[in-house]
Amino acid sequence: MHDTSLASLTRDELVARMKDWGEPAYRADQVLAAMYKRRVASAQEMTDLPLALRDKLAGFPVHPLAPAGESGSTDTTRKFLFRLHDGRYIETVLIPASPALYGSASDRRTLCVSTQVGCAMDCKFCASGLAGFTRNLTADEIVAQVLAVEALADERVQNLVFMGMGEPLANLRNLEKALTILNAPWGLEIGARHMTISTSGLAPAVRKFAAFPLQIRLAISLHGATDDVRSRIMPVNEKWNIATLMESLAEWRRRKKQHLTLEYILIRGVNDDLEQARLLAGHALELRAKVNLIPYNTVEGLAWERPPFRHCETFRRVLTSRGVTATLRREKGHDINAACGQLRLKKEQEEGRNS
Ligand code: SAH
Repeated sequence: MHDTSLASLTRDELVARMKDWGEPAYRADQVLAAMYKRRVASAQEMTDLPLALRDKLAGFPVHPLAPAGESGSTDTTRKFLFRLHDGRYIETVLIPASPALYGSASDRRTLCVSTQVGCAMDCKFCASGLAGFTRNLTADEIVAQVLAVEALADERVQNLVFMGMGEPLANLRNLEKALTILNAPWGLEIGARHMTISTSGLAPAVRKFAAFPLQIRLAISLHGATDDVRSRIMPVNEKWNIATLMESLAEWRRRKKQHLTLEYILIRGVNDDLEQARLLAGHALELRAKVNLIPYNTVEGLAWERPPFRHCETFRRVLTSRGVTATLRREKGHDINAACGQLRLKKEQEEGRNS
């Protein structure tokens, strides 16, 4: 077991801890200000605290992540690898400009965070699924990705997308706690509208998450407009098909002000038929959702390919001609294995681990 890090605690939990130790509540605020505003790396640096309290806190790291590598990219996307207390790895990607759909300003720094080690969804095109699922990330392991990257890159992140390794809605409890800390005035103060959760479509969890009080954005990895096409590449569709997913998204729409985004990877000969585009347009109009088209990022060991760019453009025009807002992403980081799960997979392969 690793010690609980300070980043695993909400303000209420830290106040309770202080109370147990016979300290006044304002000590909790001093600790939080040191961690999240002044960004100290350890309790020893919390010099406004009495020495005895600093010593007590010394057993708790600020956060649990150890930097374990970085790769840069020609388009300045930076990919960070972190080692967890149990020797596992996760990756976090810093993207120079936010994809227009996910943030309000286009020149802002976006961080792509992971929520699990590996992934259990088994999407056939994705590198994360190749090594299977290991475990959920704890709330502090999620929050710490922001703290650690901001320290390493020496800059602040304005937008978060939960599109790294893992299925965020399969780790709902820790996700919601992390979101609370990331958004709180005593925490990282990242606006809810600047955080986008991406899900492969866990319909019951979408409904549950709709009750979470923050105005978080939601993106859905649709990748197929009919059940036969979607089931072929996303086994999750066998459990919750498109109709069931659409019902849960309608529920989300009723409760949230933020627009939904439908993500659609274009894979040559698999889901790029123009009939899929016409049906996708129908789904988007029904949900008043935007569509983000992403040419498939090739994964070593998988045979899938992206369609020619011209075909992607044609696919997009089918959507826009039907009144759907659709962007075609020229994705960043193609040259540094920035697609979901690729860097971590390499590292674990180097170390001879395969699960
Ligand atoms: N599990 C969540 C979030 C992580 S994946 C989800 O499924 O949404 C983030 C996005 O990257 C998803 O839309 C996923 O389908 C996509 N993705 C995975 N592998 C990819 C690849 N090789 N090329 C392009 N997009 C990929």
